[in-house]
Amino acid sequence: MLLDSRESAGSGEKGSAGNKGVVFNIQRYSIHDGPGIRSTVFFKPASPFVILVRLSSTFAELMVRETRCNGCGRCIKVCAPGALSLAASGLRLDRVKCDLCLKCIEACWEDVLELAGRQMTVDEVIEECSKDDLFYRNSGGGVTLSGGEPLLQADFALQLLRNLKDRGFNTALDTCGQVPWETLEKALAYTDLVLFDVKHIDSEEHRDGTGTDNKLILSNLEKLMAANMARIWIRVPVIPGYNDSDRYMQELAGRLQGMKAEKVSLLGYHEWGRAKYQSLGRAYQLSGRMPLSEERLSGIIGIFKAKGLDATAGY
Ligand code: SF4
Ligand code: SF4
Repeated sequence: MLLDSRESAGSGEKGSAGNKGVVFNIQRYSIHDGPGIRSTVFFKPASPFVILVRLSSTFAELMVRETRCNGCGRCIKVCAPGALSLAASGLRLDRVKCDLCLKCIEACWEDVLELAGRQMTVDEVIEECSKDDLFYRNSGGGVTLSGGEPLLQADFALQLLRNLKDRGFNTALDTCGQVPWETLEKALAYTDLVLFDVKHIDSEEHRDGTGTDNKLILSNLEKLMAANMARIWIRVPVIPGYNDSDRYMQELAGRLQGMKAEKVSLLGYHEWGRAKYQSLGRAYQLSGRMPLSEERLSGIIGIFKAKGLDATAGY
């Protein structure tokens, strides 16, 4: 499988108890996830380039930045289950033995180890986001829920969106669209902007790359457009050798033209996700692909512009 399908979100129960959810991190002063200056709340699973990686756990786990490790062994001495060891290649973590006691994080002076994902309540997330309230209001920004797939923890995401709206925040939801329409529809009531990912217009290619076809995604996009309850910006990862052919891009641009999409962001493939992927002990599935050239990305943007769409290079 090439891309992360972000898993299919259920009706709301999975990975969430409503008031509490697992948050990977909250990125302040974000300028790429909607209008103005924003805080982006990354739901677990997450990555810096969320659509290109697969982090299937919705729970917290230990992240190891191996390149920072000096081999001092302090962490190994405090690890009661014996989950850590030093090999010729560097620090080794046995994730099965690790009970997440977090003693190694305290013991390490080199900032090698970090907890990826933590349980937070809706109020805790809002308190964190409220620190930048002034920036939001002066810039027309707000708070974006991203991931991973926020609606994989649907109860938590819905409650967070509702409470953010109650407090006057501008809200955005970054979704892969692979969720039941009823869940998406509920979120619309508290969402100003939907950032909607489309990975491939061809259903079989979509299945090859993500493990699922794109029927539900495109159906949800049609319904979103028809509902007319929130602004919708489309985000398309452009991956060399997967979806970057003129034929596929022409087809996608034609479909979006028919839907009267407001804005299309084309995200050229890069390898920014590789380090995070490796730190969580997972294989990087897009290894070996050349990044998309600026020239090729410009050509693809031209395809969308020729259809009258507001297309730009995204991040
Ligand atoms: S979190 Fe605890 S159990 Fe896991 S590696 Fe660190 S010290 Fe060992
Ligand atoms: S304490 Fe930190 S620097 Fe020392 S071996 Fe452990 S991870 Fe590496």
